Amino acid sequence: MAAADSQASRADELRRLLNRAAHAYYVLDSPVMEDAVYDRLYRELLDLETARPELRTVDSPTQRVGGPPADGFTTVAHRLPLLSLDNAFSSDELDQWYARLLRVLDREPAPGTPPPPLALVTELKIDGNALALSYEDGVLVRAATRGDGERGEEITANVRTIASVPLRLQLPEPPAWLEVRGEALIRDDTFAAINAEREQRGESPFANPRNACAGTLRQLDPAVVAARRLDFFAYTLHLPPSPEPRTQWDSLAWLEAAGFRVNPHRALCPDLEAVKTFCQRWENDRHGLPYATDGVVVKLDDLRLQADAGVTQKAPRWAIALKYAAEEAPSRLLRLELQVGRTGVVTPVACFEPVALAGTMVARATLHNADRLAELDLHSGDTVVVRKAGEIIPEVVRVLPELRPAGARPLALPDHCPACDSLLVRETGEAATRCVNSSCPAILRGVLRHWAGRDAMDVDGLGSKLIEQLVDRGLVASIADLYRLDAALLASLERMGEQSARNLVAALDQSRQRPWDRLLYALGIHHVGSVNARTLARAFPSWEQLSAAAGDGGTEALTALHGIGPEIAQSLQQWCTTEANRRLVAELRHLGLVLEASGGACDGGDGPLSGQTFVLTGTLPTLSRTQAEARISAAGGKVTGSVSRRTSWVVVGDDAGSKLEKARSLGVPVLDEEELMALLDGRSTEVRGG
Ligand code: NAD
Repeated sequence: MAAADSQASRADELRRLLNRAAHAYYVLDSPVMEDAVYDRLYRELLDLETARPELRTVDSPTQRVGGPPADGFTTVAHRLPLLSLDNAFSSDELDQWYARLLRVLDREPAPGTPPPPLALVTELKIDGNALALSYEDGVLVRAATRGDGERGEEITANVRTIASVPLRLQLPEPPAWLEVRGEALIRDDTFAAINAEREQRGESPFANPRNACAGTLRQLDPAVVAARRLDFFAYTLHLPPSPEPRTQWDSLAWLEAAGFRVNPHRALCPDLEAVKTFCQRWENDRHGLPYATDGVVVKLDDLRLQADAGVTQKAPRWAIALKYAAEEAPSRLLRLELQVGRTGVVTPVACFEPVALAGTMVARATLHNADRLAELDLHSGDTVVVRKAGEIIPEVVRVLPELRPAGARPLALPDHCPACDSLLVRETGEAATRCVNSSCPAILRGVLRHWAGRDAMDVDGLGSKLIEQLVDRGLVASIADLYRLDAALLASLERMGEQSARNLVAALDQSRQRPWDRLLYALGIHHVGSVNARTLARAFPSWEQLSAAAGDGGTEALTALHGIGPEIAQSLQQWCTTEANRRLVAELRHLGLVLEASGGACDGGDGPLSGQTFVLTGTLPTLSRTQAEARISAAGGKVTGSVSRRTSWVVVGDDAGSKLEKARSLGVPVLDEEELMALLDGRSTEVRGG
């Protein structure tokens, strides 16, 4: 009973919201929500009404086409109603439509046999405004908008300004009357120009080309319409009873011959598979078109069969609009999840009913932080609008408060960590809320996951589930503990046979050999990503050198490196001077992990100076010794202490000592600071003999 009641109130709320949106869209030309969001909410209402027909009311948007004609225009009754189109949002829904169509036409396949193919026409669904054009004896006499499907606005004077609408048809013997339907549209470049002008005049811009087109068609001054250069694609022909054309495909050719512009991107498909191929192609290719399309319209080709299939109250049964994958959709919030990351940051995550977005199913989206949560004013059970554009991680862009269930609670971040219950901290000026308990199990789990990750220590077999068990059972309290695990203990864990336990120990063993830069990244120091870790490891080829540079005496040796700014330097300094971290490093060394570059020298590997050896002597004018060493190492060069025949360059400052003499005696080239800088920047430098 309670569920039934909640369905009734949901239907009621949906109806109210959709009617308000439709008014804003059709009458005011100023939508209050994304089309895709409207479509999904509409579908939700339709599903509710189908399941419980008693919830259907006469004022439901599912019972009406479009909006009422606007004031200020004469209204005209359409000779034949102008209907809308039913939507399909997936290939499965297209199959369902086709199955329904076969049923209506009494052509259902025998069980176990494939559905019989029917010829179908695919056309781009132009995102404009439907027009009905009446011609008498080949002359345009009336043009009307769709309005509510029964009555539209008479806008003949405006439509006469559209260059692609023929005022007289190119027909030798035009029939006494005929009606052509099609889509008026505004091209993207014109749309941009109209909006730029509106903004200059301090008017609000149109939300999309379709609304701009509707607004233009309703201008009272045809001169304004003419200036906006509307276009028109014809797609439906109504003739008095006549033997030809007999198909939609031929109708389109007929329209073209009569002088209309018909969209060239169309296909006559022998079966549903060909339809799907067309749709897939245009899902991508539409972005290259100079006008907006929001899907593909699929129509039964045979006009006689169309008549047999008939229409519902709102749309023909013989056609369907397959809409392109939406990037925004509404969904209902199921719960708020709190994730504690390896740095202790608590991220609220919305878990909602799965929705298809940009071609994939999405059920979770980040809510970023406490401020975003408050800004959204999220409540339990809210309908949220989720966006996923391209490769972007899904996020909740807004909530629809109109659909909020009665008694919904506002949602906020808790005061205490959901994993360890310690008080959460939010520093002034920081967006993040953090758990600062260094032994918080959630943080430890994150640290271990990062450590085991492919770019870090790449420990095969150490996945999230296993990490959870290790932490929850108290077997691992730090990274170092991983290297103390033995196979017998591991084998006693859930879903761990003896073989996998042995494999994991072997994988951990192997990871002891990972190079210094990978380990530095794996430590998970705030802001130190894999690229920065490489730069740092090159410049400071051992933990001792790095921690000396990041020690108490300032961070200039760090910030001298390319890509290392003060924020990273500060974070490193904090990490390196924290006692617990120093202990961890000592333990790791003791456990046989590698905390220096192989060979212990500054061989940075890749870089413009790779393979070259430098010796520094004297005081350089601007760079300190550490800075110079860091820069050379970061560029791939190696710094050694004494000059030999193998030394590539000796860098000389003021008060240079015996090393300069040695360089001269061995003929090793000498550089000053400026020349060194030129070399570091990849500019060539003239060699001066030593
Ligand atoms: P529709 O736009 O989904 O489909 C029907 C229309 O498609 C026809 O009337 C015709 O104008 C057009 N069309 C384009 N190319 C066509 C072709 N080749 N053949 C046949 N028809 C073609 O349906 P609708 O009833 O016009 O409008 C409903 C849609 O409007 C919704 O799906 C929604 O996207 C949008 N809408 C949005 C809001 C909002 O708040 N954002 C509100 C109301 C409606």
